Amino acid sequence: MLRATLKLSKNQSSFVPLVANGFDGTIGNTPLIKIKSLSEETGCNIYGKAEFMNPGGSVKDRAALFLVKDAERKGLLKKGGTVVEGTAGNTGIGLAHVCRARGYKCVIYMPDTQSKEKINLLQMLGADVRPVPAVAYENPQNYNHIAKRYAESTSGAVWTNQFDNIANRQAHIETTGPEILAQTGGKIDGFTCSTGTGGTFAGITSFLKQNVDDIKCYIADPPGSVIHNYIQTKGTIGGRSGSSITEGIGQGRITMNLQPDINLVDGSLYIPDEKTIKMLYRLLDEDGLYFGASTSLNVVAAYELAKILGPGKTIVTILCDGAYRYQSRLFSRSWLESKNLYDKIPDNLKKYVVL
Ligand code: PMP
Repeated sequence: MLRATLKLSKNQSSFVPLVANGFDGTIGNTPLIKIKSLSEETGCNIYGKAEFMNPGGSVKDRAALFLVKDAERKGLLKKGGTVVEGTAGNTGIGLAHVCRARGYKCVIYMPDTQSKEKINLLQMLGADVRPVPAVAYENPQNYNHIAKRYAESTSGAVWTNQFDNIANRQAHIETTGPEILAQTGGKIDGFTCSTGTGGTFAGITSFLKQNVDDIKCYIADPPGSVIHNYIQTKGTIGGRSGSSITEGIGQGRITMNLQPDINLVDGSLYIPDEKTIKMLYRLLDEDGLYFGASTSLNVVAAYELAKILGPGKTIVTILCDGAYRYQSRLFSRSWLESKNLYDKIPDNLKKYVVL
């Protein structure tokens, strides 16, 4: 029996639950991290929501849990059933964890362009990983369509359909958005992040627009994606040009997760890979933060939004995952050279390129 009264230490502003009920209970309630170097430089408060601290290591744990619960609620998933998804990796990792914790099999179709760290991790979590050639969504051989067909032809299997199932954005309407509101006390002027399925951006934007007057929400977009052009031209889906070192973001269409909120978007920021890689190394060097490329791109966007909105403002972005999943690429000299990015890294930061 505890005799002492529990007291907050000087560094704690509130208690977090000390015991979580199984894997599911550890998803969410992530800290908001002030990015000191960029906040000092811009005179703004630039915060990142530390989604890499979710138990599966990414922002997609939240969507994975909501997608599985949605299938259970609809009666599509029974004990011993199979969850099937097409994913660039992180949703699959979240799903693989949730499936193990809830007694389901997990089949993951993914484009064969993804890092080997992610494939290995999925296999270690017991998922049946099926890499397929990376082709556009319009092609029937796209990983999503293959996942759908497999689920339809397999008894007890359900395709969770992360791109167009709005249980994905609902995760962020019900959890991430309210957490950000509480953590900033509602003092938030701007929100920005990139979109893969669009669930994170759309869910948070939808919630914040309803609860914070005059908040500006900007989509951040990598090369090869059509979203920036869509926002700039107010509704044209142009051709995709170029490709990006980022994984899990960029989109060729307006998904059902993004569609309900696309008109709430205040603007978009196109972030080339050169800015993303420089920021990735800067954050490591100056802040001790070790992020994947989509996160680094988000932070560039937050930094640019801070400059647009001006000093004194509070900007929030999403820290999607850590660099652990991409080491063989982002810290490899030959890989960076193959993308013409090694020379773009400032000489004093090249010491971090150790592979
Ligand atoms: N960053 C990474 C690393 C991801 O894997 C994803 C999901 N594909 C995202 C960002 C984008 O999240 P969302 O699907 O919610 O748009």
